[in-house]
Amino acid sequence: MDIIDRLKSLNEIIWYNPNYIAYPNMNDFSINIEDVKKAESRLLRFTPYIEKVFPETKDGIIESPINRIYKMKNKIENIFDTKIYGNLLLKRDDLLPIAGSIKARGGIYEVLKYAEELLLKQGLLNINDDYRILTEEKFKNFFSQYTIQVGSTGNLGLSIGIISAKIGFKVIVHMSYDAKKWKKDLLRSKGVKVVEYEDDYSIAVKEGRYLSDRDPKSYFIDDENSKNLFLGYTVGGMRVKKQLDNMGILVDEDNPLFVYLPCGVGGGPGGVAYGLKLVYGDNVKCFFAEPTHSPAMLLGLATGKYDKISVKDIGLDNKTEADGLAVGRPSPIASEIMDKLLTGAFTIEDKKLHIFLKALYKSENIFLEPSALAGFLGPIFTSSKYKEENITHLCWGTGGSLVPKEVREEFLMI
Ligand SMILES: *Cc1c(COP(=O)(O)O)cnc(C)c1O
Repeated sequence: MDIIDRLKSLNEIIWYNPNYIAYPNMNDFSINIEDVKKAESRLLRFTPYIEKVFPETKDGIIESPINRIYKMKNKIENIFDTKIYGNLLLKRDDLLPIAGSIKARGGIYEVLKYAEELLLKQGLLNINDDYRILTEEKFKNFFSQYTIQVGSTGNLGLSIGIISAKIGFKVIVHMSYDAKKWKKDLLRSKGVKVVEYEDDYSIAVKEGRYLSDRDPKSYFIDDENSKNLFLGYTVGGMRVKKQLDNMGILVDEDNPLFVYLPCGVGGGPGGVAYGLKLVYGDNVKCFFAEPTHSPAMLLGLATGKYDKISVKDIGLDNKTEADGLAVGRPSPIASEIMDKLLTGAFTIEDKKLHIFLKALYKSENIFLEPSALAGFLGPIFTSSKYKEENITHLCWGTGGSLVPKEVREEFLMI
């Protein structure tokens, strides 16, 4: 059966990427190593500011831990009557400060970059200044002339809404119909204007982009085309090496690292994968996870059409409980890069997201939102092909800590 028929069947599938290159030149893409270094330095310049306005961050660094999850591994093996070869770890981006999801990496980076550029252009700031001055009233007044706009299924809006409001920007978030009510409520409580659409993510982005372009003092954060968002995520991928080194986990030719990343438009997982590749080369194998109803990246890469094809073109409805992954068309930047860096991609049914959600909560007492559990099918898929105990499987938990108690309880009961 060809790949389109397999996706149409809505069965869970894994696809291995025939275009994967073990050692590509990382400068051959629209993102290069120089860009990543600049992003790292920029985040560093902002650490005193972040530490001051978000004391919950450690030293102004927006980062999350990695946990060993033995009990979850056993639980999965029992539920699915299968064996997972190797070690199972969880990256806790659900605990990222400020936004409680992976979007705290890309979204916050891009807003800070924009703020810095505005001030540098006006001669109001020097890159050697202590950025804690940005909390002064005169800067807040300056920023209040500008509006930031973004289209979102939920979490990107949260991330950008929270940081922009903190800096002093006006913010408008354009939300697709799948955005959860609690995410809209939380944003409104922070003074963010939320515009709701009865349509999917692509339409919310398109409308937002159009409205923003008509206002010279408005800046649109374009999840479908943004290099800046992508760069914010790369830093997270690069930092994994030090974390695993500190845990005594070796990654080399004989001890590969398999990373499973939930994918929507592809910027978050794509950026992380790019960062991982920079530090680990071919010793890391990256896999993207998407809902069976929204396999945007798998479809774009497998057909070679990237963003020129949508899941709707093959008759899928793009409806999923995984709001962070409810995307029908991948980002062209992420597609171009992942075409060479991605080892494979797989799909997962919504029903399974809930099975993993409960299993993780019961075994490890960790709550993740549905989107964030998509990676867990990865070790099951790859263990049928790679039966080696020296593999480290890392599931990227992409969000969950901001989910309100009542909503959590609903998920745990389903
Ligand atoms: C946004 C999001 C993703 C995927 O990121 P993309 O950049 O859209 O691919 C995964 N999980 C969660 C919880 C998200 O909010």
